[in-house]
Amino acid sequence: MSRAFVKEGEVGDPVCPGDACGGAGEPVTKETLRAHLVAGAIERLPKAGFFCANASCRVAYFDGWGGVATVDDLTAPVWPKAADAPICACLGLTEDDVIEDAAAGRKDRIRDIVWRAEDGGGACVTNAADGRSCVLAVRRLFQAHFRPPGGL
Ligand SMILES: [Zn+2]
Repeated sequence: MSRAFVKEGEVGDPVCPGDACGGAGEPVTKETLRAHLVAGAIERLPKAGFFCANASCRVAYFDGWGGVATVDDLTAPVWPKAADAPICACLGLTEDDVIEDAAAGRKDRIRDIVWRAEDGGGACVTNAADGRSCVLAVRRLFQAHFRPPGGL
């Protein structure tokens, strides 16, 4: 099958307008925007938008219609824009916590948190900057740093 006519991504999906970014954003709802932006910035993004998950980009949200909110428009620092902000905003777990446990081969705390998040314990739509459950990001980070106790 030829890929010549296959377009990358969906037609019309806007990309991040941040300097040297151009990343595809994570679609977020109005609720997510309202939960994280200061009043003045919400006006610039009155409807749904996209979250830029590029840690080195200053754009937090954009809507593809010229509406942009930077990290300065956030009510509080969010992960991954701020590495020390909780990776799981609902349960307050940071990137360092995950890496520390993974490197030490400790699964209990992370497993507990993943289970609680999967049970719907977290209010991800309003707590997480991208409006999504942290489970995938936490798992990925944990697996990337996991070392079984005592080695293999
Ligand atoms: Zn960006």
